[in-house]
Amino acid sequence: MSALASITAAPRTAPARLTVDPAAIAANAREIASRTDAVVMAVVKADGFGHGAVTVARTALANGATWLGVTSLAEGIALREAGLTAPVLSWLNPVAADWTAAVAAGIDVAIGSLAHLEALLATPSTDGARVHLHLDTGMARDGAEPSAWVSLCRTARRAEQCGRIRVVGLMGHLPCAGDPAHPANTTGRTRFAWGLGAAREAGLRPEHRHLAATAATLTDRRSHHTLVRVGAGLVGIDPSATTPLAGALTLTAPLVAVRRVRGGTGVGYDHTWTAPGPTTLGLLPLGYADGLPRVASGRAEVVVRGRRRPLVGLISMDQAVVDLGNDTAEPGEQVTVLGPGTHGEPTIHDWAGWSGTLPHEIVTGLGARAERVVLRQGPRGLA
Ligand SMILES: *Cc1c(COP(=O)(O)O)cnc(C)c1O
Repeated sequence: MSALASITAAPRTAPARLTVDPAAIAANAREIASRTDAVVMAVVKADGFGHGAVTVARTALANGATWLGVTSLAEGIALREAGLTAPVLSWLNPVAADWTAAVAAGIDVAIGSLAHLEALLATPSTDGARVHLHLDTGMARDGAEPSAWVSLCRTARRAEQCGRIRVVGLMGHLPCAGDPAHPANTTGRTRFAWGLGAAREAGLRPEHRHLAATAATLTDRRSHHTLVRVGAGLVGIDPSATTPLAGALTLTAPLVAVRRVRGGTGVGYDHTWTAPGPTTLGLLPLGYADGLPRVASGRAEVVVRGRRRPLVGLISMDQAVVDLGNDTAEPGEQVTVLGPGTHGEPTIHDWAGWSGTLPHEIVTGLGARAERVVLRQGPRGLA
């Protein structure tokens, strides 16, 4: 005899739903803008940290931000195509990027190496390109090494004098700003100050100097300079854990089936969990392909009928099983997988903890197959 005593299919397939709440993004933007005298750039890379780049951009611009930041030029061009006219900076592009398109779309570009600058200068139709020179202030990632900085500044200045480009910004990025006491913050600030001085000696007079992302914006005014680049904070993530910010995502899905099983029933691949006694199992149509990390198996919880319930067994690609104990639930009932946490549901921080990762990775991985819904907003929400 089968272990399942009963199985009921959901009356109709309702997709998983990822809901974005612009009011939360608006509140976060206002909180951040109130903490600095600098210009706020809303960083909307990776589709606005999975929340929708245009939604986050419009909401942030209506609530104190005046600039937009992205990594690739393609992301910047998509913002322009959506009708956004605010200044946009794109900071990560290959040497062979479409520099002409950047200038045509009015997108500022960060330049972190002489090779990039030479490629830009060798491209026709790039007169007037707006450039932010990027100094590596401790990441060993993007940005020019200090040994290459002076020649980068001088070359940029010569191109500026010829009318080819305008250096409008100088930027750095701090590697350890989530920990305000980390010595790399001092090193980074010091190196940036040196870089600003060297640029000045080369004759550059950019209007913007920027070093801080979310964590430094919230913890260290000395890093603010004229502009702060804030991404995570807009969507409720404070890497410094000093400021309560609002989560803006809710992920729900209906139970697609409910079954009663006997004690001793192994659940899912490899039977990593066995029912200790008779219990009721619910089936969720969400798995690691939807952004629920498989590594969270055995730890993650969801909310069914207002109660936290554990996911049991291994999270599959498309499915996960929730243990409902002796409670009943009907197929079609909505399960909250994560949300802002205001009703006891797990948050992106909980999921990050269960997965040994950052909330950033949770939000950018979620919902490839979910229906996306953006809540309506009052006048301050969406521009
Ligand atoms: C992603 C990124 C930011 C935004 O960082 P948050 O911590 O998400 O605010 C700022 N600057 C650079 C260079 C980035 O790559």
